[in-house]
Amino acid sequence: MQIEKRRVVIIGSGPAGFAAAVYTARAQLNPVVIAGNTLGGQVALTHEIENYPGFPEPLSGMELVQKFQEQAERFGAEVVFDSVTEVDFTKGSPFTVKTHNTTYLADAVIITIGADPRKLKVPGEAELTGRGVSYCGTCDGFFFRGKDVVVVGGGDSALEESIFLTRFANSVNIIHRRDTLRAGVALRNRAEKNPKISFTWNTVVDEIIGTDGKVTHVKLRDVNTGETWEKPTDGIFIFIGHVPNSTFFEGQVAMNENGYIITDQRYRTSVEGVFAAGEIQDEIWRQVATSVGQGTSAGMSAIHWLEENEEHLQNLDEPVAVEA
Ligand code: NAP
Repeated sequence: MQIEKRRVVIIGSGPAGFAAAVYTARAQLNPVVIAGNTLGGQVALTHEIENYPGFPEPLSGMELVQKFQEQAERFGAEVVFDSVTEVDFTKGSPFTVKTHNTTYLADAVIITIGADPRKLKVPGEAELTGRGVSYCGTCDGFFFRGKDVVVVGGGDSALEESIFLTRFANSVNIIHRRDTLRAGVALRNRAEKNPKISFTWNTVVDEIIGTDGKVTHVKLRDVNTGETWEKPTDGIFIFIGHVPNSTFFEGQVAMNENGYIITDQRYRTSVEGVFAAGEIQDEIWRQVATSVGQGTSAGMSAIHWLEENEEHLQNLDEPVAVEA
């Protein structure tokens, strides 16, 4: 296993990670960005982005990620296509970040590893993902032109995505486990007024059924009466919240009850020298623009922290590879 000493290790390659990379690279800190399985994270899967300031014409998530990467690399950031397997922040800086190929010893760490859509965990869900089961209306709505789909969830995401899906789908039936929506009043009003949207209350999905590898039905259950039935559908969009990718950081940095990393206004975690930005610490906004802002702040905080602690850290100007 190769060991590398680094000033800054950035875990995650989404908008927050690349923003932190641009700032720390411009400060000559040679950051390494550990990209994980999907370069760009969730944003790379987004079909079209039209609300990121500075880009009046819509562009795909992947195009935006490539621009982020190009900009960060221009200043000296290094992107590695590897995944973190273990971290140790308990002994302070330099922190240990292990990937499949390398052990990094980092003066400062910025965690930007994001969150994944929560799964229903019902039979058929995993097998039929990408074959009628989706977690992203903006990515997949186009494939449901003229079709009938169901949406699961009662929060802002479920309603916002349902409204978006009506651009393509013939009908959108929202299945919610209660009889009251969690979503805010503005989205609620818009959804209720949309003639393509209907609601099924007090109901959960017990199974997703497919034929020839494509979703055809969902098995539903009324939570009050226990009655079950099969509803034909061409697709099922699941928007029941997100789960932060914070398992590696359990016991290392403080988290809230939902597993999101707790930071202060400077994006400092409970461990000095470890920062977090983007969806790993933001349960609410989850926008490219907000993640970029948070990543920028975390990057600047890391730069300041390294400057303040210069004397105490074993600094190296260039990354050095050492055989274990
Ligand atoms: P959320 O607010 O946590 O809502 C998740 C929904 O899924 C809830 O209705 C919940 O039901 C339901 N749910 C959770 N687990 C379930 C399960 N296993 N089976 C069935 N249903 C389940 O998540 P979100 O909608 O993704 O929103 C997250 C945050 O982003 C919120 O703060 C939201 O306001 C914000 N957001 C804002 C906007 C906007 O302002 N335009 C857009 C999107 C998101 P219960 O209601 O019964 O708990």
